[in-house]
Amino acid sequence: MDRDTQDGLAIPPDLLEMTPEQLRTLGYWVVDRTIEHLKTLDARPAITPGSATELLAALGGTPPIAAGDVVADLNLLADVALEHQQHGDHPRYFARVPGPSSPAAILGDWLATGMQSVASSWGGGSGPTTIELVTLSWLRDALGLAPTSEGVMLSGGSMANATAFMAARSRQGDGVIYMTDQTHASIKRALLAFGQPESEVRMVATDAQFRMDPQALREEIARDLAAGRTPAIVVGTSGTTNTGAVDDLEELRAICDDHGMWLHVDGAYGGPVALGHRGRTLVTDLNLADSFVMDPHKWLFQPYDLACCYVAHEGLLHETFAMYPEYLADVSGEEVDMSNRSLELSRRSRAIKLWLTLRTYGLDTLGSAIDRGIALAEYAQALVDQSPVFETFTPAQLGIVTFTAPQADDAAHRRAATALTADGYAAVTSTTLRGRTVLRLCTINPKTTTEDLDGTISRLARFVVESS
Ligand SMILES: *Cc1c(COP(=O)(O)O)cnc(C)c1O
Repeated sequence: MDRDTQDGLAIPPDLLEMTPEQLRTLGYWVVDRTIEHLKTLDARPAITPGSATELLAALGGTPPIAAGDVVADLNLLADVALEHQQHGDHPRYFARVPGPSSPAAILGDWLATGMQSVASSWGGGSGPTTIELVTLSWLRDALGLAPTSEGVMLSGGSMANATAFMAARSRQGDGVIYMTDQTHASIKRALLAFGQPESEVRMVATDAQFRMDPQALREEIARDLAAGRTPAIVVGTSGTTNTGAVDDLEELRAICDDHGMWLHVDGAYGGPVALGHRGRTLVTDLNLADSFVMDPHKWLFQPYDLACCYVAHEGLLHETFAMYPEYLADVSGEEVDMSNRSLELSRRSRAIKLWLTLRTYGLDTLGSAIDRGIALAEYAQALVDQSPVFETFTPAQLGIVTFTAPQADDAAHRRAATALTADGYAAVTSTTLRGRTVLRLCTINPKTTTEDLDGTISRLARFVVESS
């Protein structure tokens, strides 16, 4: 029991309290509203763009000084704030990379939030830490990563790649880093922000399938060695965001071994494919990576945000990131302080949702759900090949197909993607490959049907003809 006064000091009551009944009623409202969202999504637009003026008028205003009406504001959040966005969970959201989260993952994330999950230190979060370590080791084995790999969960591929580079640099020191123009743009951004000189970043040529050309890599390395520079890191990609291209990791590993270099593999998009039954024949050799990244919020059916970063050298994450304030005395063995594996100290348990997803569906079913995304892109390619308007630009690979209308110019392709997205039926983006604007579909949502793809390709054909 709080005493209201002590030595004449008045302690105000807790004003933030809700009664259990109030919270229960509002909580059920949140659950019902979320289910309504999921149930009606198919009939609503895949992206709802917003006007800055209208959104500011609805959501802004002067700072709220007095208490408000929580029910009205929950409605405002659901109907306005959360409505105006790309719905990455929409069955016809094919733009960039969809985010088809799954019911089990949503439940896990809700529970983790309600119970203020924390996975910073062993002492302060042994349960959530165990969940993170267990989840990372299940995925390590299922993906076929090196058994020595240790991991940490981060907000996304950008942060996970950056974390891997910090670990790589602490082992390799300064030196030249090799990537291609198909490497995700966030990687070069991170490297430059960490002080990697632009003069020590190489864009290696790609082959006809947009994979890093191993011969071109050897030549770049030879040039750098001749100029007295130190080759340090090769960035391979298992599933590029543009076309789903998979670099030949065996070749890249051999080159790295010849020069004492580090092989980083970005599987932010394509990594989960190695969990598929067919997929594991398409994304292979992940055990050859010194470090590896993948984004479960892309193709492992998780709500934002969640990425996994693995480093294959035992203890290196800890060596790179350990800090020892007195109040966080380190403990050894299984009792890991996750805050010693990246730059994040206070951190929620992102693993709870993924652990529950793996346990609820099982790796077997999840693998089939991933394979389905691969097959949907192949179906889309068949539609493109039958279409009198389109032809395939890059064949379906890892759930991505790109195509063009040979008689239409680049601007007409961009207009067709914009028109379809504005129409609301589906969301599609164009991308640029070898200087050409191409249409691109990313089909990783297990809810997508063949009718969805029929409707999307036929509408795109109409829009591209109309806008040329
Ligand atoms: C999406 C993506 C990233 C960046 O991941 P975020 O989660 O958006 O930070 C990095 N690499 C690849 C290949 C990606 O597809």
